[in-house]
Amino acid sequence: MILFDIGANLTHESFNQDLTEVLLRAREAGIERLIVTGASLEGTVAALALAEQDDNLWSTAGVHPHHAETLTEGCLSQLAELAQQPKIVAIGETGLDYFRDFTPRAVQRDAFEAQLQLAADVGKPVFLHERDAAKDFITLLSQYRDQLSNVVVHCFTGDASALEAYLELDCHIGITGWICDERRGKHLHELVSRIPTGKLMIETDAPYLLPRTLKPKPKNRRCEPCHLLEVARVIAPLRGQTMQALAEETTATANRFFRL
Ligand SMILES: [Zn+2]
Repeated sequence: MILFDIGANLTHESFNQDLTEVLLRAREAGIERLIVTGASLEGTVAALALAEQDDNLWSTAGVHPHHAETLTEGCLSQLAELAQQPKIVAIGETGLDYFRDFTPRAVQRDAFEAQLQLAADVGKPVFLHERDAAKDFITLLSQYRDQLSNVVVHCFTGDASALEAYLELDCHIGITGWICDERRGKHLHELVSRIPTGKLMIETDAPYLLPRTLKPKPKNRRCEPCHLLEVARVIAPLRGQTMQALAEETTATANRFFRL
């Protein structure tokens, strides 16, 4: 079984000590390909450096809504330069996060638009984050959708109407271990079966979102790419699929999405 983790924050400090072992465990679990998320300018530089050392890693280039205030003109032009690198396979993560609201919403919207424009300019896919901001997110994305190639709404946590709107906009949907959370991910159990074949991809968002169904739980509570297996184990029956079939489908979708 071959799996593809489309979102892992491998430059996070929690992986500083043992990244080699983490990647080895991922391989052994069948996670052959990974996209390292770039969530800031420095994070993107680090993610790209990582991807350049490993044939099975690629990265995104972007500034997360939490860091939207750092997206100055200078930062944007450096991102644009990084975006030309062959190992950068998507622009992002970018989008809107009105749940945490770490950054003023108007600043988030400007940074989101600037990165959608960048993706349109470089012709690469976009890796998007949306939390409790569906209305503004859909409005902005709709304005740029025609100029964009592939779009994934990563770590989808929204409701049925948001899912419908994203599919209508021809977006792909990324599902994480959120779906393994009996407190806040239950609604995804029904929604995941509504994502058409060829639109679903899976991810860990490591080191965040350790699947709550995982047994035994690692002592450090850190999520790592090998836990993608648990995400797949939970999703497969909800879509009436074997894990093998789900793995084949989502890996093929990710390869097409990122043009690998
Ligand atoms: Zn995210």
